Amino acid sequence: IKSLLKRPDLVRERAFLAGDWVEAESGRVFEVTNPARGDVIARVADLSREEVARAIDAAHKAQKPWAAKTGKERAQILRRWFDLLMAHQEDLAILMTAEQGKPLTESRGEVAYGAAFLEWFGEEAKRVYGETIPGHMPDKRITVIKQPIGVAAGITPWNFPNAMITRKVAPALAAGCSFVIRPASQTPLSALAMAVLAEEAGVPKGVFSVVTSSAASEIGKEFCENPKVRKLTFTGSTEVGRILLRQAADQVMKCSMELGGNAPFIVFDDADLDAAVEGAIQCKFRNNGQTCVCANRIYVQKGVYDAFAAKLKAAVEKLRVGDGLEEGTDLGPLIEASAIDKVRDHLKDALDHGATLLTGGEAHDLGGQFFQPTVVTGATPGMKVAQEETFGPFAPLFAFEDEDDVIELANDTIFGLASYFYARDMSRVTKVAEALEYGIVGVNTGIISTEVAPFGGVKQSGLGREGSRHGIEDYLELKYICSSV
Ligand code: ADP
Repeated sequence: IKSLLKRPDLVRERAFLAGDWVEAESGRVFEVTNPARGDVIARVADLSREEVARAIDAAHKAQKPWAAKTGKERAQILRRWFDLLMAHQEDLAILMTAEQGKPLTESRGEVAYGAAFLEWFGEEAKRVYGETIPGHMPDKRITVIKQPIGVAAGITPWNFPNAMITRKVAPALAAGCSFVIRPASQTPLSALAMAVLAEEAGVPKGVFSVVTSSAASEIGKEFCENPKVRKLTFTGSTEVGRILLRQAADQVMKCSMELGGNAPFIVFDDADLDAAVEGAIQCKFRNNGQTCVCANRIYVQKGVYDAFAAKLKAAVEKLRVGDGLEEGTDLGPLIEASAIDKVRDHLKDALDHGATLLTGGEAHDLGGQFFQPTVVTGATPGMKVAQEETFGPFAPLFAFEDEDDVIELANDTIFGLASYFYARDMSRVTKVAEALEYGIVGVNTGIISTEVAPFGGVKQSGLGREGSRHGIEDYLELKYICSSV
């Protein structure tokens, strides 16, 4: 992999602990494989819980001096980090595709998207405004200030190896928190490369550590039980989110949770069908269906059902499956064998319950972790795919009668992250957007992620918001000062 990069030194196998590049004391490593080819591309330091505790100690020591800098000073460092990410966009994209599998164009996009959080929150660092409140008694003066929570710890998944980290570290550092991140063990290389650039940007020692480890639950416990950690931020499954929330309860730790979704994608009979197909392709098949905002259930109104299905089939059959490092690839491999099992399971369950295969349905000729993009018609609410996220290239089409029907179906889930619909009637657009019980609604668009808007879910999809001016609040505490004069 090093031979593909202009800066081969961005590939690191040591962890970035308190400003030093370290091997595990045990000498242990874990392997990182390229999901397109199955070959091992790196052996990364497998840190223990004790070593992670050292990163937390360092973060604790470094936090107060970091918070004592002016917002502008922190902003300048975050801006330099942003510039460095963009200067090395191509290398970072290649590295990401090698460890994660997504097509290079998507990796380039993710690096730019991820970097944008550093730029955005650097700017916000200067605008952490408090307020003054008229006193409740003649001799009282009330001010409210916002202060950093302290040491923040993050746990991130493999599907966005860059952006899931910058969304957390950028607001944390902007607010004056220090940050320890445990990246997913499938994709630590992007995180470590970002740490190289953080160091170059002038992030002080200890303010940011990347603790690579295969011992996910042990590290999760350290983050929850170490009294020096005051904030936990997690992106991943609802199942693991619940475990972490329970663990964090003992310390009454502040938690941000970006958990699973089960996104409905609704096509009304007044929709622009070509636009809806384009949106469905982007939204369902981006990252090969492996995002928490990917359409999971596609609801199509009866009058346009057949026409939409035919157009979607034609568009899906044009998608090119292949190694993400080859230009022109639309869909890469899935992250691991178990991901394919889940796609097969949802597909089989749908077919057993009466769905009809429209296209795909098989392992791809490339073998390994490649699967054909698949569409079925005749999906119904009893199927597994109606309740659970597939996280793969499987698009089930459900039919519906009217607005009230589909709103009820769309909301009938424990999840509430992203939702999408296509319609042109203005009053329908307003009504449906307000009725969907989701943190995010895409209207006539399948792409909703941007650093300027608040990303996050309701119900069991999470707590807190990432991005926008609201995102920094997750790393700040309010303090109210009551003075008697
Ligand atoms: P995904 O299906 O995206 O891997 P997970 O929720 O299983 O979703 O994993 C998200 C992140 O959480 C990964 O980095 C994983 O290693 C980590 N993780 C999994 N189980 C635990 C746990 N019990 N405690 C802490 N982290 C965990």
